[in-house]
Amino acid sequence: MKPADNPSGIVFDIQHFSVHDGPGVRSTVFLKGCPLTCRWCSNPESQKHQPELLHFEKLCTLCGICVEECPNGALTVADDELRRDETACKLCGLCVSVCPQDARQLSGRRMTVEEVSTEVRQHWRIFMQSGGGVTLSGGEALAQPAFTGALLGFLHDELGFHTCLDTTGFLPWESFETLLPAIDLILLDLKHMDDARHREATGIGNARILENARHLGERGFPVIVRLPLIPDYNDTDDNLHALGRFMKTVRLPKIEVLPYHEFGVSKYTALGKTYTVHSRIEPKAERAASILGDYGLDVTVAPR
Ligand code: SF4
Ligand code: SF4
Repeated sequence: MKPADNPSGIVFDIQHFSVHDGPGVRSTVFLKGCPLTCRWCSNPESQKHQPELLHFEKLCTLCGICVEECPNGALTVADDELRRDETACKLCGLCVSVCPQDARQLSGRRMTVEEVSTEVRQHWRIFMQSGGGVTLSGGEALAQPAFTGALLGFLHDELGFHTCLDTTGFLPWESFETLLPAIDLILLDLKHMDDARHREATGIGNARILENARHLGERGFPVIVRLPLIPDYNDTDDNLHALGRFMKTVRLPKIEVLPYHEFGVSKYTALGKTYTVHSRIEPKAERAASILGDYGLDVTVAPR
């Protein structure tokens, strides 16, 4: 079975055997591009819409193989570092494949609905046995709405897979609503209840996200709210109480607290970016869970 229409999108990873992105064992498809720029993002390579090259300097031995192989003369070794001329680089990925140290990575490749479906459907048996399926994540999966809509439709309606959407919730409700028939579960990030503080750390306000959360609650749509717990940002009692009150009011009963980690920090350097959150404060996940639980919510804490 093939998708009738076969649009393509930019995918930066597909992880199989995932157990943290919805029920059962799942394949998670990570789409590139996001309207938010969260300061703690553990996948900074997901934020730009176009493919990007990462260079892990600590792994590079400056052997010069990639310099020799680059068909566009974009690479040079100078002053004990490998430099890339971004105007000459065509993102062909050859330097990635020839590097003996795995010091380079190309994030993002164009894939069609059929290509993604063919890859994930190899795992259909484990989906069925475990009650799992396919999760679309990002970046923001809804930043490529035509591709995401077609992919969800094919996976859900044609292949019969359980589908889950991991989303920031930042899109007009009218667009969101049209996708719901092909989604079984939404994982919805709520990062901060205060509009100004949300804007300060993510680049956008939270009004549209909260409005969409309200619509989903009114419809009784299956949603698990996700709170990435960031020290000294959204782990304050004020914010947690505001979140608990909001979820109770809009009738969203489930929340998963995601403890703070710094697993993605090396990728910031590899992209030439700076990570600005660094914190020595112990995560307060259990305290957050306790406050949220007082609002009658079904709270889980994800493993770190
Ligand atoms: S991606 Fe291709 S063009 Fe760009 S630096 Fe690597 S080999 Fe050269
Ligand atoms: S091939 Fe790899 S290790 Fe050698 S210079 Fe290029 S990036 Fe560094």
